[in-house]
Amino acid sequence: MSKKIRIGIVGCGGMGGGHAIAIQSGTGNAVWNGNNMDVPGFDSAATTDISQLLELAGIVDIKPERQEWARERGMKVYPDYETMIADPNVDAILIATPNHLHKELAIQAMRAGKHVLCEKPVMISSDELLEVMKVSEETGKVFYPRQNREWDQDYLIVKKIYDEKLLGNVFNIKNKIMGSRGIPGDWRGVKAYGGGMMLDWGVHIIDRMVAMVPEKIKKIYCNMTYITNPECDDGIQVTMFFESGLKINLEVGTCHFVNEPLWNVYGDMGSAEIFNWKLDGRMVRLETWDERDTTPIMAGAGLTKTMAPRQHGKSTTVLPLPEFDFDRNALYANFAKTCLGEEKQIVTCEHALRVLRVMEACFKSAETCQVVDFE
Ligand code: NAD
Repeated sequence: MSKKIRIGIVGCGGMGGGHAIAIQSGTGNAVWNGNNMDVPGFDSAATTDISQLLELAGIVDIKPERQEWARERGMKVYPDYETMIADPNVDAILIATPNHLHKELAIQAMRAGKHVLCEKPVMISSDELLEVMKVSEETGKVFYPRQNREWDQDYLIVKKIYDEKLLGNVFNIKNKIMGSRGIPGDWRGVKAYGGGMMLDWGVHIIDRMVAMVPEKIKKIYCNMTYITNPECDDGIQVTMFFESGLKINLEVGTCHFVNEPLWNVYGDMGSAEIFNWKLDGRMVRLETWDERDTTPIMAGAGLTKTMAPRQHGKSTTVLPLPEFDFDRNALYANFAKTCLGEEKQIVTCEHALRVLRVMEACFKSAETCQVVDFE
């Protein structure tokens, strides 16, 4: 194996601490708030052993308690960011601070000769990202957007159904992320720090759809909620209209005490649903459109033939969701190999730029309550 990328982490809170343990241990498992805790229902297996590719050089954080947390785990703690980026034993910086700090930290790191892996949302705006891309080009350093949820298994199942037309041509996809705890943490509820759910979860779910569908996005509509926080969006509902007629509905909510399915996929030869991150779900595939035996059912106070459910096993078949191996460490691995010049960057800056532009169109739509033309 070639040389490892020695990585320094700036911002060692929930996510940065998770990265620090994942890189230190090589597992890439989900780690939150310093507790090495596998999230219930998740398969913690990771295919790539990232300890072969990445090495933790150290961390920097402005909070003494986070510095102490890192020291207790045997991690090197730099006194400040300038010292970390000046260290010749550091090849790359992983930025995991609140969102409004990403730009300056990224530019400083690249100017100091370090590659950058930057947490999502990579920047607050597309203009900021253009500035950062310019510095990446000038310095020849990698700037890598950490849009890691392109490797979520629930998404990859939907992508397989869509790509391989397992249910025919897909005409509608719904992805709903629903919680009931309002906007978490301190800075996420403050606009100036890059708070709000569009920049938090919105970026992930938009990213994946933009990555999956190789079509122009014709129009976008977005509605935002401010139920638990008057300053920052605590929920978003986005509709993306693609040139083929495909419609995608995305939702993030933080005041939902009863959840809808995580995913619904509708194709002209069947439908699929994934209820949760444990991947409970199914596909229902249409076998024949033969409707001769349809009998009406009682629905509310009336009869309906149109909405009479199908008898599975007759004109439809119920199938399990597709199963396949996935590598939850794929982004870490691709980042390291991009820095080593061995692979091409999978999550490109151009892609992240298009995602940010979709998010900006969403803000415009939400402000004006209008459908916005996009491409
Ligand atoms: P957090 O508040 O838990 O941690 C942020 C840390 O940054 C804190 O410890 C804080 O002290 C530190 N910090 C603030 N200013 C600093 C500075 N100038 N120098 C050094 N350290 C500084 O936040 P979080 O949940 O860990 O989020 C951090 C980033 O990670 C955000 O950009 C967020 O969007 C992203 N994130 C990504 C994912 C993902 O799945 N990709 C998940 C969660 C968070």
